[in-house]
Amino acid sequence: MPATVLIMIDGLRPEPLLNNPERYPNLSSFRSRSSWTLSASSIMPSTTLPCHMSIFHSVPPSRHCVTSNTWVPMEEPIPGLFEISYEAGLHTAIFYTWEPLRNISRLGHLSYSFFIDEKYNLLHGDEMIMNEAVRYLENYSHDFLFVYFGTVDTVGHDHGWMTEKYFEQIEIIDGLVGSLFKVLPSDPTVLVQADHGGHDFDHGISLLEDMTVPWMISGPGIRRDYQIKSAVSLLETAPTLARVLGIDPHPEWLGHCIDEIFE
Ligand SMILES: [Zn+2]
Repeated sequence: MPATVLIMIDGLRPEPLLNNPERYPNLSSFRSRSSWTLSASSIMPSTTLPCHMSIFHSVPPSRHCVTSNTWVPMEEPIPGLFEISYEAGLHTAIFYTWEPLRNISRLGHLSYSFFIDEKYNLLHGDEMIMNEAVRYLENYSHDFLFVYFGTVDTVGHDHGWMTEKYFEQIEIIDGLVGSLFKVLPSDPTVLVQADHGGHDFDHGISLLEDMTVPWMISGPGIRRDYQIKSAVSLLETAPTLARVLGIDPHPEWLGHCIDEIFE
């Protein structure tokens, strides 16, 4: 099976891609060959760990019980995308720089895990992630990869969202995404999205600036240069990628597959 890759750009708002596409050539050309929306919705609270739990388990925080960046176990656990993928015999891998994300999969459901505590290393933190993902792709069996880039969010908190420094950091990530595209095996499916946006120096509330994120997916059988019409939220990621991976979504997931993207 060709690789399926979920690329997370933590804290990426859609406006830079919309207003200044030439500054981010790799993300812009990716969008032009994708089914995409620049108005997908985050969840409340629009905070990193609750968002990621919702992305991988397709339920809101009221169901997965994680309402802050402090993880707590689900009262009635449901499997997420890593669990159903691994149990279907797929190779699952995660690359990340922010330690709490270790809880987005359950023990025993990853073929490969790479963590390095470098979310605050603006120049090289995400580059380490990209390099390790490349090394993995070149050396090991792979079906589903989650690649997390954390520094755009770091800059948002330190320098403010929608500042020149924030735009510069998106440029760095754009370069890394371009490098990753170059080494991906043929015909991968790639979904690029954010978990939440941000305003001033923070995020976490129901402001549109926090709640609106890009969601762009490209791959075999997926419509190119197509603007998605139906509403997309973080809950749609797992069911849509499950279809790409050829596995049934878990019956308790509340999001739905975005069927209109398929040719
Ligand atoms: Zn985040």
